[in-house]
Amino acid sequence: MRKYVIMGVQGSGKGTQSQLLARDLDLVHISVGDIFRWNVQNHTKMGAQVRRVMAEGNLVGDEMAESVVQDRLTQHDWNYGFIIDGFPRNRRQALFFLESYDIDGVIHLDLPDSEVRRRVLGRRLCANCGMDYNSLAGSPHEAGQCDACGGPLTTREDDNEQALTVRLKDYHEKTNPVLDLFRRKEYVITVDARPDPITIQQDIRRQLGLPPVVEEPEEK
Ligand code: AMP
Repeated sequence: MRKYVIMGVQGSGKGTQSQLLARDLDLVHISVGDIFRWNVQNHTKMGAQVRRVMAEGNLVGDEMAESVVQDRLTQHDWNYGFIIDGFPRNRRQALFFLESYDIDGVIHLDLPDSEVRRRVLGRRLCANCGMDYNSLAGSPHEAGQCDACGGPLTTREDDNEQALTVRLKDYHEKTNPVLDLFRRKEYVITVDARPDPITIQQDIRRQLGLPPVVEEPEEK
């Protein structure tokens, strides 16, 4: 069983890299942001409580974030382990997490802020399956339509200049110290998040001592 945390600034590719790793290692990918977005889209009570906070780019309260993580992990559907993305976001959440779970590694995706703006403001997501597109790279074959499922592409409510400024500030002030805390425990591997997704994934696997991705041969 393997338990990983993935951390990195907005747009550093946490979702994409988590999915690539989860797919081959049979890990459950837990994205706390996705759980909140699901609640907003489905108009749950929790969704109503977090919608505004999220749209403004602020962090949801610690108690709520912690209970979402706890509830998700008590489902125990992660026989081979999990990779958690978007948590912990501050020191309190990190201590809460370390109290309950031992972790095998923290993957830190390193991306400069200048690149973050470019990526996040150009990001489009499939409203149906969540596939991530970027208007700068990886554009869909049909404009506005997901290659995988044909769903419509949308923009995240918090992917705008104003909310991004708040999110980046929180990341540097609150989330970066968590990395220092994990570093002291020697959990952290740092990966350059600028290359293409497969190169990044290979670097992650090399540093974690895992077998490399085997790319499928292209169809003729
Ligand atoms: P993300 O998809 O990780 O960028 O998260 C989207 C939004 O969900 C964040 O901007 C927060 O409003 C909320 N959120 C996600 N994870 C957490 C967390 N660990 N603590 C507090 N708020 C969170």
